[in-house]
Amino acid sequence: MVHVVGAKPTEVAIMNTLTTNLHLLLVGFYRPSAKRYKILIEENPFPSDMHALTSHIISRGYDPEKALIQVGPRKGESIIRTEDILDVIEREGDSIAVILFGNVQFMSGQAFEMEKITKAGHAKGCIVGFDLAHAAGNINLKLHDWGVDFACWCTYKYINSGPGNIAGIFVHERHSQKDLDELPRYAGWWGTDRETRFRLTNRFEPQLGAGSFQLSNPPVVCMMALLSSLHIFEQANIDTLRQKSLRLTTYLEMLLDREPLNGKHENGKQYVQIITPRDPEQRGCQLSIRVAIPVMQVMSEFKTRGVVCDEREPDIIRVAPTPLYNTFEEVYQFVKILTEVLTSSDDEKVVDGDKGDSKELRPHQKKKKNKKTTK
Ligand SMILES: *Cc1c(COP(=O)(O)O)cnc(C)c1O
Repeated sequence: MVHVVGAKPTEVAIMNTLTTNLHLLLVGFYRPSAKRYKILIEENPFPSDMHALTSHIISRGYDPEKALIQVGPRKGESIIRTEDILDVIEREGDSIAVILFGNVQFMSGQAFEMEKITKAGHAKGCIVGFDLAHAAGNINLKLHDWGVDFACWCTYKYINSGPGNIAGIFVHERHSQKDLDELPRYAGWWGTDRETRFRLTNRFEPQLGAGSFQLSNPPVVCMMALLSSLHIFEQANIDTLRQKSLRLTTYLEMLLDREPLNGKHENGKQYVQIITPRDPEQRGCQLSIRVAIPVMQVMSEFKTRGVVCDEREPDIIRVAPTPLYNTFEEVYQFVKILTEVLTSSDDEKVVDGDKGDSKELRPHQKKKKNKKTTK
């Protein structure tokens, strides 16, 4: 796991689940004071993160209306400009206790520039953490080198260890020597020093680093499922995976940018619009795509044709070709099917799902070809 997130061994612990871990980390890292009590997060974060943050703010006696600052895309844009994030930090930093971004942003697919955000936050005296649910096993992470204070992630997205499986945390080495006064933790016997744990004394002697946040004996079946997956990651090598991932997603992007998908549906909307950043460094493997027709119509077609992706009403699909097991041919097939579904809806009737994969790509009426693409 240390290789997957770019950390030192003492900086990582495997325990609990993601939301639980976010709570445990906030116990120590969110220490509001009258002058510095705010939390900065991206607009429309994953709801669980919002619930966790809000409940911490309330439980410490602050008002979420005042304490929570959100930074979003500019009007008409779908991704958040790094300069705007840095601006907020510059302006409000003195009153911000914690900066927490969900990275990769689950909806837009934007990979925030973690190093820049961390530096800017530290310059203002803020603690900087990340929820890496959609980043771990997806993009290159250098948590130690970037100086991130803390991070948490689940292992059931790109790390494939099975729904709800045990999760990971990162706590930077610079915090590893701190005792409970300096960095409060909810303590349990599994967080104590390994050498003395089984002496079963009542004195809490924390082990060095992230491990001191552990509470309980971890579930062995969960650990084995995770370990099996990590063995595969180790064999495949996370850097090699990222190299393939960059090509795989760029290939998907290239196909989506071609005719006929770069043209317009007869309802006037662009067939597809990629809302994920175009810069490969600012995204993982996922592309979030706005489609011209109701997304459920697309999904019901996908279902009969073996395409698995995620929908967000009313019009977003999230497609994530993962380098570990998806192929270039699958990306090609996906775009072919998407093209059929979107262009055949031009003829009013939706294609019958049960006609299956024998269907050829429909020829396009010339009148619709690439009318005026706004790029
Ligand atoms: C998936 C996800 C979660 C899920 O949390 P669990 O505690 O594992 O159920 C939380 N936050 C983000 C950003 C996610 O993407």
